[in-house]
Amino acid sequence: MEQIRGRQAGAGVVPAPVPGPRSWGSAPRVSDLITLLGTVQLGAGSGELIDQIRGLENLKSAITGLQARIAVAFDLMQIQEQAEAGVPASERGQGVGTQIALARRESPNRGSLFLGFAKALVTEMPRTLAALESGQLNEWRASLLVKETACLSVEDRCAVDEELAADTGTFEGKGDRAVIAAAKAAAYRRDPRSVARRASRAVAERTVSLRHAPDAMTYLTALLPVAQGVAAYAALTRAADSARARGDAGSGGDARNRGQVMADTLVERITGKRSGVSGVDLQLVMTDRALLQGDSEPARLAGYGIVPAEWARKMLAEGHDRIEDQERREESSDRFDFKVLLRRLYTAPGTGELLAMDSKARFFPPRLRRFIETRDDTCRTPYCDAPIRHIDHIIPWHAGGATTVENGAGLCEACNHTKEKPGWNSKTVQTDGQGMHTVEISTPTGHTYSSTAPAPPGYVRAKPSPPAPSVATSSESAADVANSSVQLPEPYPPEDAEFRPGGQHQRRMAEV
Ligand SMILES: [Zn+2]
Repeated sequence: MEQIRGRQAGAGVVPAPVPGPRSWGSAPRVSDLITLLGTVQLGAGSGELIDQIRGLENLKSAITGLQARIAVAFDLMQIQEQAEAGVPASERGQGVGTQIALARRESPNRGSLFLGFAKALVTEMPRTLAALESGQLNEWRASLLVKETACLSVEDRCAVDEELAADTGTFEGKGDRAVIAAAKAAAYRRDPRSVARRASRAVAERTVSLRHAPDAMTYLTALLPVAQGVAAYAALTRAADSARARGDAGSGGDARNRGQVMADTLVERITGKRSGVSGVDLQLVMTDRALLQGDSEPARLAGYGIVPAEWARKMLAEGHDRIEDQERREESSDRFDFKVLLRRLYTAPGTGELLAMDSKARFFPPRLRRFIETRDDTCRTPYCDAPIRHIDHIIPWHAGGATTVENGAGLCEACNHTKEKPGWNSKTVQTDGQGMHTVEISTPTGHTYSSTAPAPPGYVRAKPSPPAPSVATSSESAADVANSSVQLPEPYPPEDAEFRPGGQHQRRMAEV
């Protein structure tokens, strides 16, 4: 929301940022502050230590306030430069959030959110900003006030900011809930209809996301309008009740508890399959040693991350069993039910980098695409964890860039869009000294950031001379030739092969 308002305002309505609250005779540079901080001595007594903790909290808040002012000034400057460069008004301001994100070492999405937060504080909520700069609010609590007033007009938001007067100690000793409640109440008093407007905007934010949980588990979360959310939950509850009723009647002997039945039903209804993974392309990358020889090197599941080798083997073995045992289908529900395909990938011995062949085509053919997706795992913009949506020519095709694994990078939708903007450039830096694919990105300000592909499973980084892989395949010609690290004689990847446990597909890496 802040982003939208920010972008509109960016077209020319933003008031100039308020000048900083204080100034020194000879202004220190930011790097001087870090040096100065390094000279602080730890307090002599308990009381002084607590004073230091409080003082540093105030300092962190003040730094956030200053960073917000700087972000708004940067935004205005970029918009002006883009206008001078002839960028259409509707596109000005694009890429600013990403540049701030790179500087803050966070994802482009978070960078844009911070810019929205900064604009709200600097241009519409001066008292909240003052509270931040004086340490009465920290970044999190100030963001609560910004969020709770996002639905208001600029005038109403300013009025709420004035009414709350956070810089007068309003929220001293109050918890987050009290901060939210005060902001909500003030917003509602100013504009009762904003609640309805906000609800209608919120519907547009419905989404589904996947987050990590410990022990090879995930949280699949849906943000839904309340009616749909309650209906979906009720349907799962009913399914669990009836399954358990059947179990209680002694027919099926369903030993699953209520939560387990609900989870299984959710997966079954979404994917259309019991246990859910048939027909869906799960990419599991693991070493051949882990796949075939019981090695404990963890595997990587695309879209999730690292999973234990044993878990990966169990999933594959059970999937395989099911292909052979088509008749015996009514087994326990935690069995997987899918077909396993094995693709061999190669790594250059000693560097661990995945290697593949090139293509003469303008567009990345499916196998090369898949290879780059496997190599990159997530969007290659630094700090961006978003899923890959595009395989991008690092040097564009129209500028002579080749369709090769070196010149390809996986990017998310937003980053692919940003990269096309004026002033953004990328180039492949062949190695990071250890052979991994590395891209250097330069932004309109001339700052450069480098992005190195994640190490594939089985690759141990930072060893002076990595040991030769202990694979019983040293005579495999493809793996050996890969040592030359430029060209592979065999097409990448070789024909898909069905997974046969203990079979002869022993190579460096398997993507399943
Ligand atoms: Zn991205």
